[in-house]
Amino acid sequence: MAESKPRKAAAPKQAAKQSAVKPKQPEPHLAMVRRARKINRILAETYPYAHPELDFENPFQLLIATVLSAQTTDLRVNQTTPALFAKYPTPEDLAAANPEGVEEILRPCGFFRAKTRSVIGLSKALTEDFGGEVPGKLEDLVKLPGVGRKTAFVVLGNAFGRPGITVDTHFQRLVRRWKWTDETDPDKIEAVVGALFPKSDWTDLSHHVIWHGRRICHARKPACGACPIAPLCPAYGEGETDPEKAKKLLKYEKGGYPGQRLNPPQAYLDAGGKPAPPLGAG
Ligand code: SF4
Repeated sequence: MAESKPRKAAAPKQAAKQSAVKPKQPEPHLAMVRRARKINRILAETYPYAHPELDFENPFQLLIATVLSAQTTDLRVNQTTPALFAKYPTPEDLAAANPEGVEEILRPCGFFRAKTRSVIGLSKALTEDFGGEVPGKLEDLVKLPGVGRKTAFVVLGNAFGRPGITVDTHFQRLVRRWKWTDETDPDKIEAVVGALFPKSDWTDLSHHVIWHGRRICHARKPACGACPIAPLCPAYGEGETDPEKAKKLLKYEKGGYPGQRLNPPQAYLDAGGKPAPPLGAG
């Protein structure tokens, strides 16, 4: 019989769990700020190449790509948008587009009929209300149909260089795991986390957290044993702590990582099992 096998597997996990650093409850605010900033510093070293994973050349393209990225991967959007922007390079072109032509291009993104309505409606609003330009202010961006604060901050932070926190699903999950906040409302999370960091860090912080959520700290099985911030994480042990098993949980898509399509999986960890910059990263 094979009764001894499961016990063997459980032992290292248990031992590792005990070694996790758990902040004192309640953690003093200053200690939490320091821990949060240290996490961000380590993630910045881990992902020095972190950037928005949607391809774009101007604010209009980023706005449309962000809207299209709902319910699909950035990789899929990046495979779709070149054809879209080749045919409809400006808000005026997309506003006047035949919906069937747009649907055909957007089909691989899923929900292509709703997304077609959305990008055409958005382009009409840009054309009619903003002279065909994407506005560079939060209050104007959120007036556009289908544009919430999350999308607005992606555009402000990455196309206009204005600091913004992108509270997507990864960001929400990770900051709660790190006990930066218990809030579940994205606007409240944005306010609480924003207060922990200088404004100038907000955009890069968002990239670091989202990249970490996509590659290591997954929703179902976080790869704790391959995580560079494990000593600072109150949720260490929620996922696999065995380094070898954890390595296997690191995520990449067919042909590479999301947005890092040229990186072979073996380039992801260095000899010590630590996440390493991808080949060719600056
Ligand atoms: S992978 Fe594990 S240790 Fe790392 S941040 Fe996520 S829960 Fe914490």
